[in-house]
Amino acid sequence: MKKGKIFVVGFGPGDREHITNRAVVALQESDCIIGYKTYVELIESFVTAKSIVSTGMTEEVSRAQDAVKKAEAGHIVSVISSGDSGVYGMAGLVYEVLIEKGWTEKDGIEVEIVPGISAINSCASLLGAPVMHDSCTISLSDHLTPWTVIEKRIEAAAMADFVIALYNPKSGRRTRQIVEAQNILLKYRSPETPVGLVKSAYRENQNVVLTTLAEMLEHDIGMLTTVIIGNSSTFFYDNKIITPRGYQRKYTLGEEKQSLKPHQRLKKEAEPWALNQETGEAKAGYEQSVKEKQEVSSLDMALKALSMVTKTEIVNPLFVQQAVEDIFEFAVSPGVANKFITPKQMRILAETIGETGTMEYTPDHRFIVKIPTNQPESIVERLKQNDLIVMPVSDVLNVKACDFCYGEKAESIPYAEEIAASLGGLKLPKELHIGFNGCGMACYRAVFDDIGIVYRKKKFDLFIGAKPVGRTAHAAQPVAEGIEPDELLPLLTKIIEEYKQNAHPNERLFKYFKRVKKIQYFNYQDMSSKIEVEPAPCGD
Ligand code: SAH
Repeated sequence: MKKGKIFVVGFGPGDREHITNRAVVALQESDCIIGYKTYVELIESFVTAKSIVSTGMTEEVSRAQDAVKKAEAGHIVSVISSGDSGVYGMAGLVYEVLIEKGWTEKDGIEVEIVPGISAINSCASLLGAPVMHDSCTISLSDHLTPWTVIEKRIEAAAMADFVIALYNPKSGRRTRQIVEAQNILLKYRSPETPVGLVKSAYRENQNVVLTTLAEMLEHDIGMLTTVIIGNSSTFFYDNKIITPRGYQRKYTLGEEKQSLKPHQRLKKEAEPWALNQETGEAKAGYEQSVKEKQEVSSLDMALKALSMVTKTEIVNPLFVQQAVEDIFEFAVSPGVANKFITPKQMRILAETIGETGTMEYTPDHRFIVKIPTNQPESIVERLKQNDLIVMPVSDVLNVKACDFCYGEKAESIPYAEEIAASLGGLKLPKELHIGFNGCGMACYRAVFDDIGIVYRKKKFDLFIGAKPVGRTAHAAQPVAEGIEPDELLPLLTKIIEEYKQNAHPNERLFKYFKRVKKIQYFNYQDMSSKIEVEPAPCGD
């Protein structure tokens, strides 16, 4: 006897554009298509099956039985589901019917599951990028699943900070489930958590609403809606919901939050929360923040009870702060010229950095500090009050100066400080160091900086374009001597502006100078060694 075949086809959200090629082929090859009538109507226009069986919504079992029977009689049958047939769709049911009959792949009819775009993905695409990180789908339909189980799953997902897509959130008769789900979620997540409501994605009455966990029930939610709830890092941007790929995002002074740069990825220091490969332990700071988060839920319950007793709403103050903190990164030093750090300043630094932050001493005579926090302003304030200079890191302008022989050659200190105040921290295509030396000895090695300035005979000498590191390192070239004090800052500003405007991203000043051959009115001369030396990357 000729055996038939069953395709279980997920046709995606509902429009022609988002159905896979394999699904179209399967539908076109089928003699018979079986599905819920609304779905059959969605695909009818592009299939030519001889027989189309559309059934009511609750007749899934008979649909599956019918399909098996027809295939056993030799027909090619497609059973259709919206989205993906394996996500609250017909695939499992078809297998259940087959299993009951003792079907095996070897001896039974052929079965092919054709994947489709599930609502979590189609709806997410209309919201921006809300899923992005670990996520789960939970169906709020308690027709086939006990509510106590659904409740537990919502609680577990909420607790574990999953992005959650709620399928079957509400129907004419089931209206309570979404209210309960919101209550559970509010125990673990901020009321401000971004929520997207997508109704009929890629269908005729498509409707997209951006709201928050607190306000989501004020909008229309129905059988055709998928509710996507962000995790603790999800944010709104330009009418979109975005969940970042990673948890901690770094921000530095005067800048928006920034993601890790490619070369910083996968470095141990950039991932303080990762499981330690040797000890199997996760870092204390992160555990702590998770623990605090769990405590929030009992605190929240207590506050709720208090609100009920006092009949006034008492809001949990901890929700304002997100459980997982960002890393605040900055550079700190005792001064542009001053190299002394006092015990009090050391103590303040240690207190500020605490157990979870790090402090790294760098060759530029400053500390790079990383602190998990959501309140960078108060940290900066405290350090500044204690006469510490706080500066952004990464690709910014940094001014360093010699100690002017402990202040004996103090004449030019104000110029160095003026340059630091005016240009320090400026965002540039690549990090740039201005080195400042108080006398012609230049013992602080200003000529090995991107820009070197040497104070000599009450005037300034200027050096541009050192390559400070590498096998092909070289000093900066002397471009001008005897610059008048009042001309120095305007000239530096012009050089920096020009570089900022015209350099490629990541192009250090010496490379830029070499490429364009002229900065302001200074011509490039080749300063590299006449002996051929191959540059070598790190590790080689
Ligand atoms: N198999 C389907 C899910 C079926 S359960 C899939 O993978 O997408 C039905 C639920 O799916 C609906 O209640 C709704 O929450 C969601 N859904 C399906 N199609 C949708 C669409 N086009 N727009 C929004 N939600 C949709």
